[in-house]
Amino acid sequence: MGKEHVHRFVSKDLTVRIAAVDATEVVRHMQELQNTYPLATVAVGRSMVGALLLASHLKDGQQVGLLFRGNGPLTSIYAEASFNGQVRGYTPNPSYQPANYDKGLSTKDAIGLGVLTVARHQPYQKQPFHGTVEMLTGEIGDDIAHYLHQSHQIRSLVSLGVYLDQNGKVQSAGGVLIEVMPGVEESMVEKIMNNYETKKPNISKMLNEGLKPGDLVAPFMDGIPFEEIAHDYPIEYFCPCTKDRVIRALEVMGEAELQDMLDKKEAVHVTCQVCGKPYDVSLEEVQEVKNHLHRESMN
Ligand SMILES: [Zn+2]
Repeated sequence: MGKEHVHRFVSKDLTVRIAAVDATEVVRHMQELQNTYPLATVAVGRSMVGALLLASHLKDGQQVGLLFRGNGPLTSIYAEASFNGQVRGYTPNPSYQPANYDKGLSTKDAIGLGVLTVARHQPYQKQPFHGTVEMLTGEIGDDIAHYLHQSHQIRSLVSLGVYLDQNGKVQSAGGVLIEVMPGVEESMVEKIMNNYETKKPNISKMLNEGLKPGDLVAPFMDGIPFEEIAHDYPIEYFCPCTKDRVIRALEVMGEAELQDMLDKKEAVHVTCQVCGKPYDVSLEEVQEVKNHLHRESMN
């Protein structure tokens, strides 16, 4: 655990930059923490991979958050990653199951129509940069590419794969992000698109065959010289939750239920939904949350 990292590459003429990652361990960890069912696993997993790839093109200390909000049963998907390899993901509806799996693990209907909001945080900066675009397909990868084009005028190819075994457990997760810079030779873009269409590189299949991130890139870049650039930050599942934030989340329970907890006079254990970290909450702290809710309801 912890030895994987996002691999970065650049074409020899510097006009194409590439990131590739095997994120199997962190996506598996997310599934174990949140007991996500297949569609939630695939949606959150792809988003985590996408966030890791995007974050590797930022600067030291910066992070990116992806929030997909749709009118489908999954309602929302969130993933966040930092340049330094920390990543987490979450959906409020991890146990969603469709009536059947005739459509496979396409997340399109599960997420539905809606928007993707991308937030970029820099350390010591209060206001993150926000960009919002309509989702094109609800398949995550295409939506990230659409965002890059709409908000940053960057043409890209985003290929993400989360593969589940027959028990619905994560077998592999990873992806490739290829971005072309302004001034790129159009013949190069055509070559990449042609590689993509003729070779149809399948991330899950390649990972299941034991290929490494560098190998994942090869079929996309066939015929184009490229080299790896150092990016040595081990990826890890990390949640920056605090007791304060977890306590504040108790507010959703409402005054009556909080009073119920107080009446029982029992110690309260709350776990962070994103990472499973347990917190002990005292009855005084529950009382404070209730008081705060009450004051807000008076306003
Ligand atoms: Zn947490």
